[in-house]
Amino acid sequence: MAIETVGVIGAGQMGNGIAHVFALAGYDVLLNDLNEDSLVKAIGTIDKNLERQVSRGKISAEEKATALGRIRTTLNLPDLGQTDLVIEAATENEPVKQKIFDALLPHLKPTTILTSNTSSISITRLASRTDRPEKFMGFHFMNPVPVMQLVELIRGIATDQPTYEALHEVVRNLGKTAASAEDFPAFIVNRILIPMINEAVYTLYEGVGSVKSIDESMKLGANHPMGPLELADFIGLDTCLAIMNVLYDGLADTKYRPCPLLTKYVEAGWLGRKAGRGFYDYRGETPVPTR
Ligand code: NAD
Repeated sequence: MAIETVGVIGAGQMGNGIAHVFALAGYDVLLNDLNEDSLVKAIGTIDKNLERQVSRGKISAEEKATALGRIRTTLNLPDLGQTDLVIEAATENEPVKQKIFDALLPHLKPTTILTSNTSSISITRLASRTDRPEKFMGFHFMNPVPVMQLVELIRGIATDQPTYEALHEVVRNLGKTAASAEDFPAFIVNRILIPMINEAVYTLYEGVGSVKSIDESMKLGANHPMGPLELADFIGLDTCLAIMNVLYDGLADTKYRPCPLLTKYVEAGWLGRKAGRGFYDYRGETPVPTR
């Protein structure tokens, strides 16, 4: 199963990072999103992030230019059908992901491995609606993709061993480390991380602490590099809420109920860094707590 070309669906925070690391590792990448603006923005972000790696001496200017040259963009989803590996990294919403797979399937070559970067949705359920559940896997990168070392590999109930091994090999080629997780809601990292973030939002909601004191407490008291609210803004509050809902529905346990304040922020469109506002306002020079 030689993988040389990779199709990435969704050019948001994760999609652009995934395109970045694959291109740098020598894969040809075809990046897709719904509109031209998202694609232009993604290429701009990749350019900026590659430049940062050049300025830190991690890669050469030539490697940057070669990597950028390996990324092409398209608004036409069927164009991804001829790639060897497809990574779906669109919005964390099951119907959105299902529609993407439905539209892509008729154009896919038989050998293509199909994956989703979902943070929480059942891989087995996503796979069961496709024509290739044995070649379908959860391929969960961490944010920011160029920096984070881990990739979770999640097998659906039908995923075959050659597919798992092919992706394991890809992770090694990217210079990253794979962790295998079983296909249960939110897998390993988010099963632990997102309820902690949700609890931090409850701590704010109940007035136990302010945004600043909650984040400082976890940074200085638990040695976390980022406070949980800062981290929530970084992940995207819509994504955090979607994951809590998947945990709540999938595990049927009230301990996973999403905090109403998290829901309120999402309803306001204050989705965190990507929207300019979340638990902090990012529109000025330095982030300022929004409550
Ligand atoms: P994002 O909001 O930054 O980007 C999502 C992108 O998908 C947007 O550009 C949007 O236009 C695009 N999109 C939506 N519908 C589409 C369609 N039908 N066809 C093509 N593109 C479409 O979100 P993100 O943070 O990049 O998250 C993407 C996926 O990665 C989600 O499944 C999320 O759970 C997962 N993930 C996120 C993080 C994180 O920290 N944000 C970490 C790991 C995994």
